[in-house]
Amino acid sequence: MLRDLDVIVPLWHAPPSMTPSAIVRECPQCSASIAADDRFVPWCPECEWNLRRPDSGRDAPTGRPGPLARLRKRLDARFAADLHRQVLGSGVGTPSRDPGRIAAYTLATLVHLFALTALVGGVWLLVASWPNPFGIVFGVAGVGFAYLARPRLGRLDRDVQHALTRQEAPVLYDLLDRVAREAGAPPVDVVLVDGDVNASFGTVGLRRTNVLTIGLPLWLALEPQERVALLAHEMGHSSNGDARRMSYVGSAITTLYEIHHAAARVRVGGGLRALVTAIAVNVLTGLVRLVVVGLIMVLESLTYRESQLAEYAADDRAARIASPVAVAGLMDKLITRAPAVRRHLESAAHRTGDLWEGLRRYLDGFPESEEERLRRLARLEGARVDATHPPTHLRKAFAVSRTYGTAAIATTDEEMDRVQAELERTGDRVAREIVDRAQAALYE
Ligand SMILES: [Zn+2]
Ligand SMILES: [Zn+2]
Repeated sequence: MLRDLDVIVPLWHAPPSMTPSAIVRECPQCSASIAADDRFVPWCPECEWNLRRPDSGRDAPTGRPGPLARLRKRLDARFAADLHRQVLGSGVGTPSRDPGRIAAYTLATLVHLFALTALVGGVWLLVASWPNPFGIVFGVAGVGFAYLARPRLGRLDRDVQHALTRQEAPVLYDLLDRVAREAGAPPVDVVLVDGDVNASFGTVGLRRTNVLTIGLPLWLALEPQERVALLAHEMGHSSNGDARRMSYVGSAITTLYEIHHAAARVRVGGGLRALVTAIAVNVLTGLVRLVVVGLIMVLESLTYRESQLAEYAADDRAARIASPVAVAGLMDKLITRAPAVRRHLESAAHRTGDLWEGLRRYLDGFPESEEERLRRLARLEGARVDATHPPTHLRKAFAVSRTYGTAAIATTDEEMDRVQAELERTGDRVAREIVDRAQAALYE
């Protein structure tokens, strides 16, 4: 039975032995001696032989990327480097005076006004021309379009997302209140705990509930002060109004996609008259689509730049609150531990025993050589949390460059232990979610 598992689970997924054995072998490329850990793929720090492990391209699309994808990647890297130079040189600036942000706001407002006009015009047509059939058709079309373009506020589904309440986690909420005050942010209303190797902040619903989501696996991979840095980063997003702005501009982009969808090409067919009509309609909708696609591209590129600037701004705030060292440490964990934890949890379906205990042992025995390999790989590939974030190694360099002194918020071991105990109340549920997800992925 164990043999079978060994075949299914690749070497680097194998459960960690208590004492990792270091084997010394010779690099096949430069003959330097490599001290390898038998649970991980060997690589050479001298000549970077095997830096990319054999399975790293597993999820990537097969074959070489096309010329367009390569160009895009190059432009992305150039853009990231330029923005990095800008924030290193002159800081994150005053976000509200950023010309890109003002342009995005203006364009989004025009789109929202357009949808509002459709609503008012539609209702007016219905009322004024009743019971004229043309009035009804265009009136309903206007109202229907406004419905599609309605602002999406998001909502908290308490049946699906389990909240950790203030009563259940008083020490965590206390710490959050302190961090929020220091960041100039309103208090967090709801804390959600999930199984992602991530954390996020959002504002949802008509009552604008402030929701902080903490991924338990990421939390476990961090040192105490790095956890404060993580909370401070998310509170930085809150005080900078990033979620609000993103949803304002984001819903304008959604509206534009709806228009693009509505202005679909009609099928040409039937008699001469139908043919002429269809061509005329297609020329018209084609023009609409062209304008809409142009607007989408402008708005998306503006938000692309903005969201990356927003990450730097949140990192800056976190550096002041939790210290630059803690933010740099957090970034380093995102580079080294986060991908390892993700891979470890993806194979949770093959494991038995306590998931968290297994993860803790895996992290305790995580070798420095594997961390170094992941650091070099992140630099090489410009690895990032996702497209809205600057490459993580650049964020780390930015954090290091901040000249803030000691942390504005420091915690005691006792406080962090209590926060830990409160978060672990969700441990069983979150572990079940992770195992379910890993098992579902097996059958996909
Ligand atoms: Zn070598
Ligand atoms: Zn962020």
